[in-house]
Amino acid sequence: MKIENNINTKPDVLKNKTEYRNFPMVPRVVFGRGSFGQLADILLPKRKNSDAPFIFLVDDFFEGSVLQERIPWLFNDQIIFISADEEPKTNQVDALVHKIKSDFDELPSGIVGIGGGTLLDISKAVAVMLGNKGNSEKYQGWDLVNSPSLYHVGVPTISGTGAEVSRTAVLLGPEKKLGINSDHTTFDQVILDPDLLATVPKDQWFYTGMDCFIHCVESLKGTYLNAFSESYGEKAYELCKQVFLEDLDSKIAEEKLMMASWHGGMSIAYSQVGVAHAMSYGLSYVLGTKHGLGNCLVFQHLQEFYPQGVALFHRMMDKHDIELPTHICTNLGQDKMDTMITVALSMEPLWENALGKDWKNNISREKLQSIYLKI
Ligand code: NAD
Ligand code: ZN
Repeated sequence: MKIENNINTKPDVLKNKTEYRNFPMVPRVVFGRGSFGQLADILLPKRKNSDAPFIFLVDDFFEGSVLQERIPWLFNDQIIFISADEEPKTNQVDALVHKIKSDFDELPSGIVGIGGGTLLDISKAVAVMLGNKGNSEKYQGWDLVNSPSLYHVGVPTISGTGAEVSRTAVLLGPEKKLGINSDHTTFDQVILDPDLLATVPKDQWFYTGMDCFIHCVESLKGTYLNAFSESYGEKAYELCKQVFLEDLDSKIAEEKLMMASWHGGMSIAYSQVGVAHAMSYGLSYVLGTKHGLGNCLVFQHLQEFYPQGVALFHRMMDKHDIELPTHICTNLGQDKMDTMITVALSMEPLWENALGKDWKNNISREKLQSIYLKI
């Protein structure tokens, strides 16, 4: 156990000091079927006045759905439907902030994000940017946010990313895919209502669920592991095994995966992810591959790094008849391949967590290329 390693998100200058991260957790959370119905009561005391609206940023899957009718809008509140087809971008966040500022004379009372990791991250980033100046790309990195964000609430509708609990909002910027990692990013309130998961398509359920499983494997097998991360990681790993390998009642499986996502997020909050995530970032940057699918595409070929986890992953794929797309990188061309490898290797804390301080001597560009070519 190397607790001193757990300063991975601090600037280099602090890496030699024994300084432990003092990170925020979501201060308020509701869990339970139907708990979405409590949103109106939760928002009421947070309404500054009738001119300061709540802005609901909602996955456009829910446009015209029963859920839309249940959104508790009042006065001049606004519902903005957003597609989750692509990963969130800095210019998308900036455009939303611009729209909100020009639509209203005063700042909103808060932001409510309803959807998967994509909508949750957009909502966190918009809330941060409504309290801070400039463009969002300026805040991609660690602890660059100085002023508080707007009050923001997260309502996940698919389980796995842990975005509901994390202190980051991952954005694709002009130069990098990197989160706004800050104490102000974390939601002020989360509503965990398993009823909202009922419509998730099976493939997506698997990809996003595997994001959670892979968080656990990479955290538990990483050199940054400590008792804090281990306690959450082991619980989430166990829940994932039940959900994806046992024949649970579907409602129980939804509830367990929702909590696995939460615990997996808590586990990596105080450790780090590893090889699959680093390489998945490369895929996403060059090809726009979405996070959950990208992780699965890479992880299936990582036997040499995570033998037990990868064996279980293949059993889970078989049990649920999941077929991953193939030939993704076969005809990529060397230029794009090089960019992909460079992006993956730039995720230094992830490699250090996976392979130790000496990681640069234990991984090569050729190795990464050989893995990418299998995808
Ligand atoms: P997502 O939000 O990208 O959604 C995936 C698909 O599922 C979309 O088509 C969406 O419309 C659909 N969907 C969501 N809920 C649904 C429902 N209830 N019924 C039917 N369809 C539904 O999925 P995700 O995997 O949760 O999020 C991926 C994003 O999360 C990536 O952008 C990734 O970078 C980010 N992420 C963030 C963190 C973090 O800590 N902030 C961690 C991991 C991943
Ligand atoms: Zn992930």
